Amino acid sequence: MGNMRETDKKKIAILGSTGSIGTQTLEVVRANGDLEVVALAAGSNVELMEKQIREFGPKLAGMWTEEAAKELKARIRDLEVKVVWGMEGLLEIAVFPEAEVLVTAIVGMIGIRPTIAAIEAGKDIALANKETLVCAGHIIMPLAARCGVSILPVDSEHSAIFQSLNGEPKERIEKILLTASGGPFRGRTRAELAGMRVEDALKHPNWAMGQKITIDSSTLVNKGLEVMEAKWLFDVDLDQIQVVVHPQSIIHSAVQYVDGAIIAQLGTPDMKLPIQYALYYPDRRPMDGKRVDFFELARITFEKPDMDTFVGLQLAYRAARTGGSMPTVFNAANEKAVGLFLHREISYLQITEYIEACMDAHKTIADPTVEQILEAEQEAYENISGFRQ
Ligand code: NAD
Ligand code: MG
Repeated sequence: MGNMRETDKKKIAILGSTGSIGTQTLEVVRANGDLEVVALAAGSNVELMEKQIREFGPKLAGMWTEEAAKELKARIRDLEVKVVWGMEGLLEIAVFPEAEVLVTAIVGMIGIRPTIAAIEAGKDIALANKETLVCAGHIIMPLAARCGVSILPVDSEHSAIFQSLNGEPKERIEKILLTASGGPFRGRTRAELAGMRVEDALKHPNWAMGQKITIDSSTLVNKGLEVMEAKWLFDVDLDQIQVVVHPQSIIHSAVQYVDGAIIAQLGTPDMKLPIQYALYYPDRRPMDGKRVDFFELARITFEKPDMDTFVGLQLAYRAARTGGSMPTVFNAANEKAVGLFLHREISYLQITEYIEACMDAHKTIADPTVEQILEAEQEAYENISGFRQ
């Protein structure tokens, strides 16, 4: 690999390069000699963006605000890197001609428009940004098929399902066993949940992730989003997706086939494996890291999810069954409520109370356009502002 020509390298762009998935994607790039980073986007961390630009040499870089973009530009005056900002910047990065693959490691449904633009421009998508698929899966999956691009899952459970499927046609799937750690509050009662603080919810037992997804893991909203993500990625019915709580996070998910065989992917919890698998699919590359030692594993256990306590998962199923614009309302209300909780403006249980209230208030639109999805998002935000007055 040492003297590989530039043109042989797979060229990638990353939305959300300074986050948990973004930085781990760059670790995968660092560990392999044949990936080239051509464009990067991030929210506000100018300092880390500068470091990433100096190490990985992209030609295009974006920040969310104009102010952050100006600061970045000043810091990298000595380099020939184009700096962009805002949604226009995200869209420019998404369609950057040199990139073959776009890693969507941005958080939230803000990823919808850039993801659609990248697909239309013929980019394969290494998808971590599940909120986009939850809200716009009905637009994205058919569009990807029409444009002949692959949507490669980065989410660990979906990567495990993808690895377990390994090309089998969907007709052979009996069900998908979507595993869940259960989060930091597994086994707690609703009365106990009522008093949970930000720092309690941020203590995930097995994974170090961005703040939003860590809160979502504690409410099981994350698992609800993943049920919808799996439905779109693998084109199965909701009834074919079974959530299995497995606190040790060793079995990352499994597929049960029509003959009863269950094929699973196991490993220690490390997002670099699904990231690398998505970037090299269908190849499987060597990777360093801790291996599962069956003799060290005292035991692995399974439980049913407690949907009466963790109503977030129940609400997700309701949103998924209703379909149309309802998953957007579920997701948008959650994004807003989690932000408020992280700023200590609402209590823990208010997160799911707000989601439910927004869903109750919403009149579902079947098959919404991107415009209508963004309107449903706005409606949820306004409703939440209303509840707080
Ligand atoms: P994070 O908060 O650590 O990082 C998010 C990244 O997006 C940061 O680089 C941030 O700067 C950037 N960003 C946020 N808003 C932006 C904006 N408006 N414009 C440009 N950039 C913006 O989040 P994360 O944990 O890496 O999660 C990213 C996505 O991956 C989420 O959708 C999450 O659900 C999914 N995911 C994450 C993990 C994980 O292990 N972290 C696992 C599975 C799926
Ligand atoms: Mg996951």
